[in-house]
Amino acid sequence: MTNNSEYKAWRVTEQDGQYIGAEETCRIADLPEGEVLIKVSHSSLNYKDALSASGNKGVTRNFPHTPGIDAAGEVVESGGTPAVGSKVIVTGYDLGMNTAGGFGEYIRVPAGWCVEMPAGWDAATAMVYGTAGLTAGLCVEKLLQMGAAPAQGKVAVSGASGAVGSVAVEILAKLGFEVVAISGKSAHADALKALGASEVVGRDALEPGKKPMLKPVFANAVDTVGGAPLAELLKQIMPGGSVAACGLVAGPQLETTVLPFILRGVNLLGVDSVEIPLEAKKSVWQKLSGDWACAKAEKAARTIGRSELDAALRAFLKGESAGKIVLDHSH
Ligand code: NDP
Repeated sequence: MTNNSEYKAWRVTEQDGQYIGAEETCRIADLPEGEVLIKVSHSSLNYKDALSASGNKGVTRNFPHTPGIDAAGEVVESGGTPAVGSKVIVTGYDLGMNTAGGFGEYIRVPAGWCVEMPAGWDAATAMVYGTAGLTAGLCVEKLLQMGAAPAQGKVAVSGASGAVGSVAVEILAKLGFEVVAISGKSAHADALKALGASEVVGRDALEPGKKPMLKPVFANAVDTVGGAPLAELLKQIMPGGSVAACGLVAGPQLETTVLPFILRGVNLLGVDSVEIPLEAKKSVWQKLSGDWACAKAEKAARTIGRSELDAALRAFLKGESAGKIVLDHSH
């Protein structure tokens, strides 16, 4: 591998205000500085990749750019740890935002971004989870740290058919929780039940309303959508319950009153999977590759090649994406 070696990447270019994604031939020399060069075999698709690919400047400032906030593969050059030949996962930090990401066959990143592949996993399996699975795991971990337990009552998962939501449903069901999946895709109800949801309700369960509080029906919740649905969800949480909030597909604004917090002691728990210490990521990767393994999500995941990225990323922006999509560079 020399600086002049070439590789393929799905790059996004700005042309007259339009953002066009296409496969390009790149050179290793053009990758950013970093201690570790990784041959990426697999990446995974996330909502943030769709934002980057559509020119969202809050995610990616400069184009042309290679998106892909997730990558898994083999270290081919390193200053030390991780060693050459080791298999690693890289998620979050600046990968795929303003650092060339996993939609290219190679990435170069700081050593401190790399997590060693958990025993028993290959790159394809790791990317069934990717940032979405990691985030679902972090949400569940936060609820458990707050003392959430199946005996307390139902746990709601909003955006349930999405990449984060579907993994959250399966982990919670595995842990014995009675999971209510909140989903806008009625055609996806059977798939959500197969993941372990005991009930599937429509998004109208979180339809914005004027009442300051509602009947408390959920002991706890994982919210992946934010916006007005999150405000409605907070009104329906039982006393002392918690909502782990990680997403904003329904909007970044949260207009609520303090009533759920001061009348019912509800906890709103923010979840970040991007900038947290590597150790915190490692702990969830270990759980996902062990007791929290989601066999059903792994089986249901769809694998695509670079030529299918454009359509798949557009589906995210329309809220039409379901489950996990893995990018296989050899596909
Ligand atoms: P997906 O697009 O896969 O899933 C989001 C789901 O939300 C959709 O499938 C849909 O599910 C539902 N949805 C979509 N649009 C709306 C809407 N307008 N109103 C209500 N529900 C809607 O995305 P991900 O699961 O990958 O990500 C979910 C969110 O989490 C995103 O905002 C993402 O940016 C965020 N995220 C945050 C991370 C962090 O570190 N905090 C890390 C990873 C993701 P359904 O049809 O079933 O209702």
